Amino acid sequence: MHQPRRDRMYEEHVKDPYIARGKPPEPTACPDCDAIFYKGRWRWGEAPEGARRQQCPACSRIRDRVPAAILTLSGDFFSSHREEIMKLVRHTEERETAEHPLERIMEIADPEGESQVVISYTGIHLAKGTGEALQHAYRGSFDFAYPDRDTVMHASWKR
Ligand SMILES: [Zn+2]
Repeated sequence: MHQPRRDRMYEEHVKDPYIARGKPPEPTACPDCDAIFYKGRWRWGEAPEGARRQQCPACSRIRDRVPAAILTLSGDFFSSHREEIMKLVRHTEERETAEHPLERIMEIADPEGESQVVISYTGIHLAKGTGEALQHAYRGSFDFAYPDRDTVMHASWKR
């Protein structure tokens, strides 16, 4: 019994601390991206009159530079089809973000040059969905593991 009960409850019911922190009274509007918290979740829409203003979990992650997931793309096939593959990555993001404002790409980097791309995400579902979409389209190998609370999910696709 080293941990207070409150923390255990938290651990059991909440996976993403940014979402827990961001559960505001309704209606609330994010001043940065215009997502609104309404009927129990963040969605796109007109901010109702008198809405409270609070940053949504995705914008908080972007501000803090704390991604929920990191997806690494690599391999010879990736290098030679990079442009086409990155189009699919963006297309997957557009579709998912239109439905789920908290699932976005934070940053796309290539610290190793042409042969590898590292994409950070505000939500794990989009990172996973992107890896699955790549595997569906091009095969290759996609690996991921669900993270523990408050850690980053690392995923990779390679071909
Ligand atoms: Zn926002």
